[in-house]
Amino acid sequence: MILINKDIHNKNYFTKISSMNFEYSEKQKKFIKQVDKVCKVLRANEEIAYLKESVNDKLIPEFNKIGMLGCPISKQYKGLGYDILTYILALQRIGEEGSAMRTFFSCHTSIGQLVLQTWSNDEQKKKYLPDTTSGKSIMAFALTEPEAGSDPSVLDTHYEDNGEYYLISGKKHWIGNGTFAKTITTYAKEKGGDTKSISSFIIDMNLPNIKKKEIRNKMGLLTVKNAIIEFDKCKIPKENLLGLKGQGLSIAFSALIDGRLSVAAGAIGVMEDCLNESLAYAKNRCQHGSALAKKQLIQQYLAKMEVSIESAKWLTYRAAIAKQQLNDYIEDLKRNDDKWIFNLSRKNKKYVDLRRKSDKLAAIAKYYATNMSFDVANMSVQIFGSEGYKKTSRVAKHFLDSRATLIYEGTNEVLELKIASEILGYNYRAY
Ligand SMILES: Cc1cc2nc3c(=O)[nH]c(=O)nc-3n(C[C@H](O)[C@H](O)[C@H](O)COP(=O)(O)OP(=O)(O)OC[C@H]3O[C@@H](n4cnc5c(N)ncnc54)[C@H](O)[C@@H]3O)c2cc1C
Repeated sequence: MILINKDIHNKNYFTKISSMNFEYSEKQKKFIKQVDKVCKVLRANEEIAYLKESVNDKLIPEFNKIGMLGCPISKQYKGLGYDILTYILALQRIGEEGSAMRTFFSCHTSIGQLVLQTWSNDEQKKKYLPDTTSGKSIMAFALTEPEAGSDPSVLDTHYEDNGEYYLISGKKHWIGNGTFAKTITTYAKEKGGDTKSISSFIIDMNLPNIKKKEIRNKMGLLTVKNAIIEFDKCKIPKENLLGLKGQGLSIAFSALIDGRLSVAAGAIGVMEDCLNESLAYAKNRCQHGSALAKKQLIQQYLAKMEVSIESAKWLTYRAAIAKQQLNDYIEDLKRNDDKWIFNLSRKNKKYVDLRRKSDKLAAIAKYYATNMSFDVANMSVQIFGSEGYKKTSRVAKHFLDSRATLIYEGTNEVLELKIASEILGYNYRAY
């Protein structure tokens, strides 16, 4: 599936758009088939693990067999080297198995590995990426703090430069994969410094002075482990600064573009599974003398689900292509300019334009797909009636899990404000 030619903004726009191709390529079909096979193998384990609220311990080894743990990571670092759209299509399929399974990949890959692939230097990539693509090291992204949620610029975690090391202290919470991730990126400001000093660091989680604690009693996402992570003067080697000092928020917000895309893709999978479950149930279940599927009010639910799926797909695929255009531009910069990292800044108009476009489209896709997936899951529970109220039903699991997707990777309220500020202009920014 290659929807839009890279030259969409050039003058040949209309001739190019007539050649849009909405079909999966043969390579994509083959890969999604492999992902589908693994999903089917994992289904029973995921259901058991969900009820036990434990990690599905087959997930990493099974997905590792097809290379999914490094799907969009360059072959140079032992990934599969797939483009963002193909990765998104895989997440869409994984989303059918539940948002928990998909969230694992969002944390490991979208806001984990892809941050390193984009922002780290060659030595850091060589040191960290191959172990993550083979599953030896799982990744996580630690930005949120108890007092810094929607507004990470007020984060309190701080670093001191002691000459030899950075000493990091502070508390992060809700970190997905945080109980077992071996490599994470985190964000801290210079002690006594302001927002402009916020920087990003790669952390080896086996270092001393790091405490982890699981967050329990969650509403859903029961096979994902979220953690509180505390750093107490943790010694971070100088070479583990990611990007430039002061680039932290820019790195975090760029990670969230990939994060939002992954959540939108998973939400499509959730809706597809809810629709399939609902279709089968509605055709089988008879009340008032005929199948539920014959009732017009039930058909209205089914039609709304289908419309939501189709709409969310094209928003998400379009946003994935915009992100790929941004990635391609960054990779070109890297090839041609040793000082590329300085060019990923507000001073570079082309970079800013591509980034703003992909940021806006990913926000729209995440906002729409997650709102709709929660509504769709709710409708499917309604179609199932009391059967849908059992935690063992797939639709109940989707309903409980999809609630989180309206909160994480940018709450849907903040995304509305972001979309509005993109169309109104920065002076109208309301957040
Ligand atoms: C299951 C789960 C997994 C998560 N995983 C991670 C992770 O892996 N890594 C990580 O760093 N974080 C993670 N988070 C944290 C998540 O990103 C934050 O919860 C989110 O950013 C919102 O922050 P908050 O919870 O502090 O809510 P708050 O920021 O306190 O917001 C509360 C409410 O106020 C609204 N609000 C806030 N500001 C405005 C405004 N200006 N205008 C209008 N409304 C506003 C919000 O939309 C929300 O409805 C996770 C959270 C959850 C629930």
